[in-house]
Amino acid sequence: MKRIGVFVCHCGINIAGTVDVKKVVETLKGYSGIVHAEDYMFVCSEPGQALIRDTIKQKQLDAIVVAACSPSLHEATFRRVAQDAGLNPYQCEMANIREQCSWVHQADKEGATQKAVRIVRSLVEAVRYNEDLEPITVPVTRRAVVVGAGIAGIKAALDIADAGHEVLLIERNPSIGGRMIQLSETFPTLDCSQCILTPKMVAASRHPKIKILTYHEVVEISGFVGNFKVKLLKKPRYVKEGTCNLCNKCIEVCPVVVPSEFDMGLAWRKAIYLPFPQAVPSVFTLDEKSCLGLDPIRCGKCAEVCTPKAIDFDMGPEVFEVEAGAVVVATGFDLYPMSKLGEYGGEKYEDVINGLEFERILSASGPTGGQVRRPSDGRVPKDVVFIQCAGSRDPENHMPYCSKICCMYTAKHAMLYKHRVHDGNAHVFYIDVRTGGKDFEEFYQRAVEEDRVNYIRGKVSKVFKQGDKIVVWGVDTLSGKKVEVKADLVVLALPLVPSAGTEELFRKLRLSTNKHGFIQEAHPKLRPVEHPNSGFYLAGVAQGPKDIPEAVAQASGAAGKVGALFSAAELLREPTTAEVNDLCDGCAFCVDPCPVQAVTLVEYARDGEMKKKVEVNQALCLGCGVCMATCPKKGIAVRNFTADRFLSMVDAMLTD
Ligand code: FAD
Ligand code: SF4
Ligand code: SF4
Repeated sequence: MKRIGVFVCHCGINIAGTVDVKKVVETLKGYSGIVHAEDYMFVCSEPGQALIRDTIKQKQLDAIVVAACSPSLHEATFRRVAQDAGLNPYQCEMANIREQCSWVHQADKEGATQKAVRIVRSLVEAVRYNEDLEPITVPVTRRAVVVGAGIAGIKAALDIADAGHEVLLIERNPSIGGRMIQLSETFPTLDCSQCILTPKMVAASRHPKIKILTYHEVVEISGFVGNFKVKLLKKPRYVKEGTCNLCNKCIEVCPVVVPSEFDMGLAWRKAIYLPFPQAVPSVFTLDEKSCLGLDPIRCGKCAEVCTPKAIDFDMGPEVFEVEAGAVVVATGFDLYPMSKLGEYGGEKYEDVINGLEFERILSASGPTGGQVRRPSDGRVPKDVVFIQCAGSRDPENHMPYCSKICCMYTAKHAMLYKHRVHDGNAHVFYIDVRTGGKDFEEFYQRAVEEDRVNYIRGKVSKVFKQGDKIVVWGVDTLSGKKVEVKADLVVLALPLVPSAGTEELFRKLRLSTNKHGFIQEAHPKLRPVEHPNSGFYLAGVAQGPKDIPEAVAQASGAAGKVGALFSAAELLREPTTAEVNDLCDGCAFCVDPCPVQAVTLVEYARDGEMKKKVEVNQALCLGCGVCMATCPKKGIAVRNFTADRFLSMVDAMLTD
């Protein structure tokens, strides 16, 4: 029988404040196989670890159970301690008596103490069954796939490539650049967004280690950290890159006019188009949805005038597969739909617009060349109302969270408006102004003091049209007085939401998100750029609302993590994978349920007869146990997670 040692941690008062630690130790002392049990104030401290190491040697222990916090925090610590003392690291288990016991039963000390005993006993049963295991080594493909080419994706790609690794930068739109390329000037420095972004776009396009795949989408990702297979869809542009010389003749003859996505519908483009002058790659795209018809060809004028014969109506979608060791998700954001903000006139009135539309109006490359003119009649607005938190921080009707950047971009909008329209009035309705960032408070103060922006603390109660004015009613909660502004233009600071289509993408890739669809980090404080699924990293607003400096910092963090992953000669994987035994008769029930297709049915000869059984690809297996749960004959089990082990654990948990 294994000689098992148990070490029960007080964790200060985190555990000992609720659980009677001494009583747990005394109760466990008589339990089968336990040859040593003791408590200690902080077992994770250096002296605590030394105590465990020394006791393993002195008492010749075969296995240990550390009763403390969650294994997700300290399992690696104690497995290393066990290994240093000469044990196989899998002869160490952690019993979680903090998160799963003391923290949740603070009102019932007696009950918590009894539960702690049961939890520890069940882990003693577990470790009794544990076999010595050795990690599995797998090679690493030193190529990263970055999904989404806004500023976060571009920065992550550049940093990974600068570290010497290949990068595939995947963007679903015809050009890289994301939302930042649409912005006019950026807070808190008011530098021109395009001027600071386009050098990065060009650097990415020229980098020998970066391959940019625009107009591409991810269809599927299979495999595991270091060894992913990424299936990509190349959408047809109907224009041959490298042959098109941007002569513009096709654009001149194309009879179709549709709203420009880049200009947020405030200007027009043709069915064949370049999204914006600095687009990367600089190649036209024929948008098949707005073209008059490609099959059969109903117009074909672009092909007729195209001298270098760059138009190819026969192009079709292509699906192909690439290998990669790591995936950075940087799919960014959209704005919450205006149509959902009818109470603020969203999509009811032409002169109620969103923040990105106002960015295009302010932009020198925008539809009005940077002059502030309202969409309905092109007049210069003399009174502009900006409504902050229009849909954010509104759990009853819209989104409960703070979108983080709108206080700052509204201050910027009001300021830039005043710089363009000197005799104009900017009114900002706000709940409170959040300026948590370097130089942000000073920026906001400039808007109030130098540019005389009229900040009104209060919620807007009604927005309605009166003649050619948009009337905004609210209450100033500082003075208690009703406020009415007869505005020419209203700008809504809408919530940031995950990009359209990402919910489906993340579901397909089995990437967890929070309840609002922003991709989940492995730990909110300690692992903010990693996803819980190994090999996936996060950057930018895909993870949650943030400004450009934060998106860039996170992208560099994700790139650093990818670099660290790629620096290893080979990867070590957990050996707790599925193993087939002699009870398997090849019924193949387990083959289809395996989420990573690690199980295959094989035939073999025995005693002159052909037999069947399944085999498990150890490099692919996640150790999830789905196969084990579906097998009716106990023919497949995850190492150190056998059914007998589980049953013993349950018995120990239920026995008084
Ligand atoms: P995005 O810019 O959204 O890029 C994501 C990219 O991923 C896009 O190109 C998208 O097409 C692509 N993508 C999405 N899904 C897929 C998919 N499935 N496959 C492939 N590609 C995909 N910040 C500042 O610091 N200063 C400012 O002055 C400022 N002003 C702002 C004004 C407004 C009105 C708004 C709304 C934001 C402002 N911001 C500002 C914030 C700034 O825009 C963001 O921080 C920044 O753009 C985030 O970049 P990103 O790369 O995370 O996302
Ligand atoms: Fe425009 Fe389509 Fe005609 Fe070409 S074929 S000119 S893209 S409408
Ligand atoms: Fe597939 Fe079984 Fe491994 Fe899960 S444990 S990944 S089902 S082989």
